[in-house]
Parts: sequence; structure tokens; C-alpha cells
Amino acid sequence: MAGEPQDDCLFCKIAAGHVPATIVRETETTVAFRDINPQAPTHILVIPKAHYADAATLATAAPELAADILRETRTVAEEDKLESYRIVFNTGTGAGQTVFHAHAHVVGGRGLQWPPG
Ligand code: AMP
Ligand code: ZN
Repeated sequence: MAGEPQDDCLFCKIAAGHVPATIVRETETTVAFRDINPQAPTHILVIPKAHYADAATLATAAPELAADILRETRTVAEEDKLESYRIVFNTGTGAGQTVFHAHAHVVGGRGLQWPPG
């Protein structure tokens, strides 16, 4: 069923507390934790506790939950004292998605180039 935990999903395991992570914030519906391979001084992942494969799938099935994720990106950025930051939702292997549980990357704390690589 849509949103149900997947046994083979790393981020479902982090959301359930079965795999450790450096959690910075948790709400009823979301978890935010530091990326294990940070690409900037701040690199936080914000995930829904429920499992959706990617951002658009999440937004289609559960738009309020997608909004929760977006709100949380700002909160964690503010907690790290960031005025500017980038939110990235890699979607598909060709774009670098490696974990197929929707997640927002919140990246900041250094200058960021545009266009991204
Ligand atoms: P993506 O490549 O967009 O799917 O993003 C997946 C992100 O998860 C990568 O930036 C990884 O560094 C990060 N990651 C993988 N395993 C862990 C973990 N156990 N704890 C925290 N971040 C992780
Ligand atoms: Zn999952």
C-alpha cells in the first residue's frame, strides 16, 4: 500500500530507528538527519516517515506530507544559521538518486554554483 514501510529501504530503517543516524529534528511525519557523506558544511536529508519512491510520487499521493518536508527544510536550515541554501530532490538514477525513498537534500554553508553538475 502507498506509504507503507519497505523492508529493503535504508531510509525506512532510519525513520524507524533501526539504523542509526545523526538526527537533527523529528516531527510526527518527518525525520531530518545529517548526510553520511556531506557535500557542504550543512548537508541534511529531510524524509517523510512514510515510504514514497521520490518527491513527485510523494507529492501526488500525499501533498500535505510533501509540504511538511518543504517546511522542515527551512527549519533545519534556520537551525544551522543558513540564510541561503539549496533544496535538491534527485529523481531517477541518471540524476544521482541512490535511495528510492523521497528525501530533500538541504545543502548550504558554502558558495553554491549554478548550474549544478
Ligand atoms: P540520493 O543520491 O539523492 O538518493 O541521496 C542519498 C543520500 O543518502 C546520499 O547523499 C548519501 O550520502 C546519503 N546516505 C546514504 N546512506 C546514509 C546513511 N546511513 N545515513 C545518512 N545518509 C546516508
Ligand atoms: Zn523507505
